[in-house]
Amino acid sequence: MLKIKNPATGEVFEEVESTCISDLNFMFENAQKAQKKWKTTSFQERKDILSSFKANLLTKKSECARLITIEMGKPYTQALHEIDETARRVQWFLDHFENFLESRVLGETKGIKEILSWDPHGVVVSISAWNFPYAIASSVFAPALLTGNSVLYKPSEICPLSGIKLREILLESGLPKDLFQTIVGDGSVAQTLLEFPVDGVFFTGSYETGKKIANTIKNRFIPTVFELGGKDPAYVCEDANLEKTIDSLIHGIFYNAGQVCSSVERLYLHEKIYERFLEFFYSRVASLKLGDPMLQDTYIGPLGREGNISFLNQQRENALKKGAYELLSGGASKDEPGFFYKPSVLLNTDHSMSIMKEESFGPIVGIMKVKSDLEAVTLMNDSDYGLTASVFTEDFDRGKIILAHIESGSVYVNSCTHLSPNLPWGGRKHSGLGSTLSLLGIEEFVKPKSWYLPPS
Ligand code: NDP
Repeated sequence: MLKIKNPATGEVFEEVESTCISDLNFMFENAQKAQKKWKTTSFQERKDILSSFKANLLTKKSECARLITIEMGKPYTQALHEIDETARRVQWFLDHFENFLESRVLGETKGIKEILSWDPHGVVVSISAWNFPYAIASSVFAPALLTGNSVLYKPSEICPLSGIKLREILLESGLPKDLFQTIVGDGSVAQTLLEFPVDGVFFTGSYETGKKIANTIKNRFIPTVFELGGKDPAYVCEDANLEKTIDSLIHGIFYNAGQVCSSVERLYLHEKIYERFLEFFYSRVASLKLGDPMLQDTYIGPLGREGNISFLNQQRENALKKGAYELLSGGASKDEPGFFYKPSVLLNTDHSMSIMKEESFGPIVGIMKVKSDLEAVTLMNDSDYGLTASVFTEDFDRGKIILAHIESGSVYVNSCTHLSPNLPWGGRKHSGLGSTLSLLGIEEFVKPKSWYLPPS
């Protein structure tokens, strides 16, 4: 049994039965059978079902958003935005998958026609993080289903109800029942699932779990995508527009209580604007409302994972012991019953501190003063991770030159954190391998077939 806690109160509000091994056998066999039929369906049939899913999801927007808030603590206003974002991703795949899958004549040699077509992998597993239970899932199930695969979906133990709801809406939209099945349980259930002869694995989560998964499926030569953690830096140059920069960074650091893979967790400020930046930044951080995630004006809700409070405390204490100090007093909040953490902004940090090296995944940020672009680039690259990086400057060429030297999957001038379905989303180094979203995020779900045909 999974006990689901509301992180805003710390109380268990529901229990859900975990999927057992005999259920997994049954689900896997059914997913195989259903996929064989599904791969022969027309693009139009698949399109109709996923379009209807999108419409039904939007109709149930407030219900789904409320569930996100109760399960993982995201402020309701931000949860509503997640549902819109999920619909946007599904629509993007609906608009692009057909063109991508059309077989193409690529050439002709000695009268033989050379044609490329694509086959689905078969049964793919999606193991997901809890911080965006709908949006992350949609980057996998939408392209997987549209390209003819079936999906075994294992949401985080923190968000099983959202995973069950997703399936409910897909079935209501006409999807045959065994094409998307939700598996309920903790990491051990996911581990058991990976022992089945599945045809692809799409994982979103931490680097540590990513390594375990890579180890479980080693030697099987199945396609995999790993979307892992980050320790994303931002550099503010001396010519940046401070008001706009701070607007963007407040969101980049504290949105969803900093529980975004691409949250800005390290901030490098040019020494010429250091003091001015902190003056404005202080008042903006101090004004962020922390509390009941159902309220309209709450910006910071509770942490999704109770256990992360002690990790953030350790990071903060480690920095304070080594000479850092706080811009305003942060840390675990004792005023509320749930898993709340007040924003912590640590100054006078350096790279000997965990706060500048290990992923925090919470409302905490380390700040350093730098003298030059070169110093900023060196520090930004001094990380095991490489998901995103941003530079704030009014000189866009300067921003581009700096970012060209940064080892990250996505880079931004004068913005941070966000993503677009037009572009691939993926990390370098410990941030992952492979891509979701964009045309590359369709290609991950199919394998090429090369045809050599006599002239017709
Ligand atoms: P975890 O790595 O703890 O868990 C991710 C998923 O893996 C969960 O469903 C978890 O199940 C499951 N899992 C746990 N152990 C195993 C195992 N041995 N074998 C297979 N699956 C297992 O990450 P979190 O859920 O805490 O998510 C936070 C992390 O995800 C952060 O590092 C964040 O940066 C990253 N992330 C990356 C994104 C990206 O696009 N790059 C996007 C969003 C988050 P259970 O929860 O039930 O234990």
